Amino acid sequence: MLVDVTGTPDFTRQPKIELHIHLDCSLMRSALHRLGDPIGETDFRRIYTAPERCSTLLTYLMAIEPSCAVLQTAPALRIAMEELLRALASDGVIYAEIRFAPHTHQGGGLGLDEVMAAVTDGLAAGMEATGITAGLLLCALRDYTPEQNLPVIDLAHRWRDRGVVGVDLAGDEAGHPAAANRSVFNRAHELGLPVTAHAGEAAGPDSLREVIDLLRPARIGHGVRAIESEDILAEIKARNLHLEICPSSNIQVGVFGAYGDHPVDQLSRRGLSLSINTDARTVAPLSLSLEYRRLAKCFGWRAGEFLAHNLEAVRHAFLPASEKAGLSARLIDGWGARD
Ligand SMILES: [Zn+2]
Repeated sequence: MLVDVTGTPDFTRQPKIELHIHLDCSLMRSALHRLGDPIGETDFRRIYTAPERCSTLLTYLMAIEPSCAVLQTAPALRIAMEELLRALASDGVIYAEIRFAPHTHQGGGLGLDEVMAAVTDGLAAGMEATGITAGLLLCALRDYTPEQNLPVIDLAHRWRDRGVVGVDLAGDEAGHPAAANRSVFNRAHELGLPVTAHAGEAAGPDSLREVIDLLRPARIGHGVRAIESEDILAEIKARNLHLEICPSSNIQVGVFGAYGDHPVDQLSRRGLSLSINTDARTVAPLSLSLEYRRLAKCFGWRAGEFLAHNLEAVRHAFLPASEKAGLSARLIDGWGARD
């Protein structure tokens, strides 16, 4: 295992699973180059990266706009997805679920199926080039109406055999209760689509309760503010809900003050099912290897913790059991002998 000058392992080469990453927060500079923009690193960071500390989740969401502005054509979507898979592969990710809201990529006149065709072309090209596997999660948005979000669920159903593995609820949690889109997720369940939902990040236990009861997700994006309620923690455990935890992203949007204040270690010690994720690789300049280094430095996590949480990620991935066995074996092979 490579180590840096402080003795912390590099983690780049260890196999990893990533269940929570947004395409529009992870536009690679290499994708812009391929699209004809020769942008340098400094300008790229200035334009496409959010402030290290955002005052609210909404400030962070606004920082995604320059990336979204690019991702409005078929070539941009195809190349952005392909380059993201290359970045994931070079970070040691062996399976990823990548999410995006297809109805936010229609500014250039693309129909929803044209958006999907471009993204799935990029997905196939990226998998072919890197050898990693990945699935897509389509996001309904809290600040959109059921009339706007329902077509996303039907789209997920139509593209399920062509890369889509599930659906998500994303967007501004504090300003938009999930209840408004309950019918959208009823439809997802009718169609047998696996559901995850962002909750317990910009709002607390009441929002988690609402999402758990009304949307009935199998996983929760973030869910970190469950730490504020013993009842919610017990409920999450009893229902075997998996938390997709993104520590650096939570720090960036101000959910917690410092990395050491993040409850990920407490949640891990209390036996919650959780995985470690980036959320974003451009809006926050992040990799999963860097996130692991932070966890190792701050909480003393070692191979045992990382392997356990990667195996939990596979257990709760929206994949058939037949595909999970191979991923688990690769994780055990990559992490098992090291500590
Ligand atoms: Zn997210």
